[in-house]
Amino acid sequence: MSAFDLPRPAFMDDEEIRMFADSVDRFLDTNAGPATLTQWREQGYVEQDFWRKAGDAGILGVSIPEAYGGSGLDFRYDAVVMERQGRKHALNFAFSLHSTVVAPYIYHYATEEQCKAWLPGAVSGDTLLAVAMTEPGAGSDLQGMKTTAIRDGDHYVINGQKTFISNGHACSLVVLAAKTDPSAGAKGISLFAVEVDKVEGFERGRLLHKLGQEGRDTAELFFTDMRVPAENLIGGVEGQGFRMLMEQLPKERLVIAWQAMGMMEAALEITVEHAKQRKMFGGTLFDQQNTKFKLAECKTRATVAKTFLYHCTEQLLAKKLDAATASMAKLFVTEAQAFVIDECLQLFGGYGYMTEYPIAEMYKDARAFRIYGGASEIMKLLIARSI
Ligand SMILES: Cc1cc2nc3c(=O)[nH]c(=O)nc-3n(C[C@H](O)[C@H](O)[C@H](O)COP(=O)(O)OP(=O)(O)OC[C@H]3O[C@@H](n4cnc5c(N)ncnc54)[C@H](O)[C@@H]3O)c2cc1C
Repeated sequence: MSAFDLPRPAFMDDEEIRMFADSVDRFLDTNAGPATLTQWREQGYVEQDFWRKAGDAGILGVSIPEAYGGSGLDFRYDAVVMERQGRKHALNFAFSLHSTVVAPYIYHYATEEQCKAWLPGAVSGDTLLAVAMTEPGAGSDLQGMKTTAIRDGDHYVINGQKTFISNGHACSLVVLAAKTDPSAGAKGISLFAVEVDKVEGFERGRLLHKLGQEGRDTAELFFTDMRVPAENLIGGVEGQGFRMLMEQLPKERLVIAWQAMGMMEAALEITVEHAKQRKMFGGTLFDQQNTKFKLAECKTRATVAKTFLYHCTEQLLAKKLDAATASMAKLFVTEAQAFVIDECLQLFGGYGYMTEYPIAEMYKDARAFRIYGGASEIMKLLIARSI
């Protein structure tokens, strides 16, 4: 039994993509090997120097337009980065968030001048990006956010608090969602690019200790009469933030699903290997019928998940991916990931519970996938709206 052998569809199968995938693998093998990943988990963050190395290797600017220093490639290349990152289990480094989730808010909606000011640094790894939507009192229900941005002359005065912000500890530019008109619901939300070293009234909270993905820094952010220049309002028009968030979410959901997919495949691969060499009852663990049935079920779910993910990726490239279908991808792939990793861990027995075994780390890291980027329940709500 091969752990996983789904051929790439034609649109994902060209020499350039294969070479790119190899270069991502080489970068991760050299710079994010097991010892480094352990160090990141222990300290709770990744050094800025690593981001610069990723910038030098061309990994941060994959889909950022060439005019701003990026490679201007399409989502297939983003998908490859996410998948390889999941495969190598190097998820403690939030470059997907940086370049595939946050940077697009800038290059799709900011002015030419803003793009020129902010994006080259994001491509080189000198500027670290974060996106701050979630608040202590508003996560799934984003419209309930309390952070306000009130115009005062040439500035906005921002007050409020955000939580669970990935890259929050290390970021230098935050795309921040705040209410410019607190009485207007979703239409009162705007996005700001906050250059955190250039403003007063910005404060980072402590590094939050997480169940998994420990090396990917996650922090609270506080804003007290923080004065942000009016020209940092993304797009220059108030009240467009919620629309921007909604437009970008389908892609964000595929980004998460591709990482989940990579991790699922890695889990299957190491489990098949383990099952075939673990001796028991005069044979191997793999010889037991239960093992074959479990692995067959896992392989089936992974194959179905990946087939659908390819379909959604093709839809996205053709600009046809709607919110409900993207939600189905995130829901199905991350639920399959949870199922597969749990079954795989069981096949490792006691070793699966020891964090020195990658399957245990995967089990911890996978849990967040069904929560962030829209929890599974929110995916179901969105899908149900299409019925
Ligand atoms: C590791 C990690 C990294 C994150 N990074 C970021 C980041 O970089 N930026 C950012 O802004 N946020 C980030 N988040 C926050 C994340 O997006 C939120 O945690 C998520 O959207 C859920 O919001 P919440 O935690 O407030 O839970 P709640 O909204 O309180 O939800 C609690 C539970 O209720 C369910 N629920 C909610 N509404 C409904 C409903 N209508 N019907 C049925 N069930 C419902 C949810 O699905 C969930 O199970 C991160 C979270 C984690 C764990």
